This record gives sequence, C-alpha cells and structure tokens, in this order.
Amino acid sequence: MNKLAFLQRELESLHKENLFNVIRTIEGPQGAWITVNGREVLNLCSNNYLGFANDIELKEASKKAVDKYGVGPGAVRSIAGTQKLHLELEKKLAAFKHAEACIALQGGFIANLSVIPAITGEGDIIFSDELNHASIIDGCRLSKAKVVRYAHNDMADLRQKIIKNKDSAVRMMIITDGVFSMDGDIAPLPDIVDIADKHGAIVMVDDAHGEGVLGDSGRGIVNYFGLEGKVEIEVGTLSKAFGVMGGYITGSRILIDFLKQKGRPFLFGTGLTPADTAASIAAVDILSRSDTSVKKLWDNAEYFQKRLKEAGFDTGSTETPITPVMLHDEKTSSVFSRELFNAGVFAQSIAYPTVPMGKARIRCMLSASHGKEDLDFAVDKFISVASKLDL
Ligand SMILES: *Cc1c(COP(=O)(O)O)cnc(C)c1O
Repeated sequence: MNKLAFLQRELESLHKENLFNVIRTIEGPQGAWITVNGREVLNLCSNNYLGFANDIELKEASKKAVDKYGVGPGAVRSIAGTQKLHLELEKKLAAFKHAEACIALQGGFIANLSVIPAITGEGDIIFSDELNHASIIDGCRLSKAKVVRYAHNDMADLRQKIIKNKDSAVRMMIITDGVFSMDGDIAPLPDIVDIADKHGAIVMVDDAHGEGVLGDSGRGIVNYFGLEGKVEIEVGTLSKAFGVMGGYITGSRILIDFLKQKGRPFLFGTGLTPADTAASIAAVDILSRSDTSVKKLWDNAEYFQKRLKEAGFDTGSTETPITPVMLHDEKTSSVFSRELFNAGVFAQSIAYPTVPMGKARIRCMLSASHGKEDLDFAVDKFISVASKLDL
C-alpha cells in the first residue's frame, strides 16, 4: 500500500490546473547572464540586487574563512558554535543599520520564525498586512497571539482594526514587509509608526527587499524614512542584496539579548557557516564604504521602467527596482514568460495563487550587474514577444 498516494493526486491536480511549478536549474554563478539548461539567458529573476552573489571580494572572504575556520560551526551557537566571525558580522550589521544590536540567523525566513513567537503570545494581537511574506505568516502561526489582517497598506483599515481590538489585547504588534516583493511598492512606515505610537503597539518591519536597495547605501526602509530608533524590530536577509545566505534581526540591546535566550531557531539550530558569515561581512564592508552599486541598481531600474512604459507596458505600482509587467491574464502571462525565455530572457510569470486572479504579470528583478545593453536587449524582447502574441 502506498501511504503517500494522496500526494500523487495533489501533484496531478496541480498539473491539471497549470499550477505545477517547473523549477529550472542554473549552471554556474548568478549574474546578469546565467546558464540554464545549457543556454545563456539574460537573468531577470534573481534577488541578487547588487551583484554581490559572485563578487570577487565576497568570494575571497569566504575562501579565507574556510581556511581559517573550516566549513561548519559544529554546534548550535548557544552551546559551542558561536565563532568570532558571527560576532563580527552582528557588530558590523548593527553599526550599518544604526541599531544597538543584531542577531544573525540561518535565513530571513528563520528570522521571522525566531522573533515573532519569541515576543508575542497568548493574549497578544498581531496586526499583519494581508500581503505579508509567507515567513511572517508562518511566524504568526507559531505564536499563540491572535492575528488580525489589515488591507494592504491601508492605514484607515489598520487604525480601525486596532481601535476595535485594542481593549482585548495584552500587547499589540504591527508587522509589515518593507518592500512588497510582487508589486515593488513600499509600506507607509511613517504612518504605521504614528498609529503604533498612538496606541502603544510594537512595530516590526521585514525589509528583505529594501535591504541594499532603499536608504543611504542600502540601509533599508527605516533609514529611508528617517525612522531610526522608532521601529522596534527590523528583520533582514543576507540572501538577497547581500548576495549570500542568512538572516538577521536588529533592534535594541534588550531585544537582541532576549532573542539570544529565547529565539528557538537560534537555540536549537546550528548557525551560519564560516563561509556565509565572512562573505556577509564583506558585503556589509562594501556597502559601508561605497554606494556605487546601489546607485547603479537605481539607474538601471529607472532606465528599464522608463523604456518599458514608453513601449506601452504597464509596470503597476512599483516604487523600487522590482518591475512587474502587468499582463493580467494567467495563461497569457505564462505563455509570455515562455516566449521570453525562448528569446533569451529569463523572467518569471507570477500568477494566481501567488497574486490575485486577473493580476498575472511578468516580474522583472533588476540588478546592478546589468548593463544598459542588457536592459535594451530585454525591452526589445518584451516588444517582439508582445507583438508576436498580438498584445
Ligand atoms: C525572501 C524573503 C524572506 C526569506 O529570506 P531568506 O533569507 O531567503 O530565508 C523573508 N521575508 C521576506 C519579505 C522575503 O522577501
């Protein structure tokens, strides 16, 4: 008897509904161009915003760390696995983010699973933007707090829901993505902080797509809005703009001391490898001395979005280098993506259920590693595929 036959049926229904995700294999490093199934294609899919994933300085730092510290930390950090490198990374990240302290974790996903259940529990209420990332949703599920979703970036709705629930809450926390990864829009953080202060709610922002992108030298959304010291919890990832792998939380010394005692993934999971840690340190060092790559990313974003708009494409409500090209129809979007790939451009179709029905789009992720000629190539292919499909 095959006890997992029900999984086969689930897979078949995914295929039937055209929702089965075929995962492509990349050969070689991340960059402007990547090799997929033996073919070189222009890469508009990665979160390698600053090109750090294959940066020489990061790679050298990794290699040196492996020689000096080996490949694995050997134990959870609270027992015998905290290496000098971990502390150096935390110190540098805290300084970079203008925060008191930092805890580095195994990923951005894990950072949300660490902090949300550690500081909220029974009797508390979490107010969560309806478009928050899956890891925030899962972090909330691990907490015993009640979760109240508010309409995306809708401050009137947030205010109303806080007022309605306030009296039944021990503590309240508002959680939002900094930059929303499907549309590229930015959370109205100054308004959120305002509302939170009025009602005594804690504010947490997950800035996975704002890190390395927004603010002075990519310090993120809190710096961008001049809110340093006013947001209690900042979650970040080392896996996107920083180009490596890992996550972190910055905030007050008290918060970080507490998470090092109570954050379960920190206590019960081995920490970052020396190679990841050293490469992340190198990334922070680069950003701390120069904003060249951040500027290049924004130049590229402005150029690409302007050219797409001139060609008649709708880039939705983006305010960042995340560039959705709205096609609305699910089937059209999936065919468009396949045609782009055949033409040498790797750009993923994002459709229901990741975004609402009727809001399918090709999502283009820009990087400082792209040159103008790469972006021209991409726009030309968008134009030729659109005309081929009679759009
Ligand atoms: C990508 C992402 C994460 C997960 O980060 P990893 O470091 O890849 O685990 C968490 N939150 C948001 C908002 C993200 O976009």
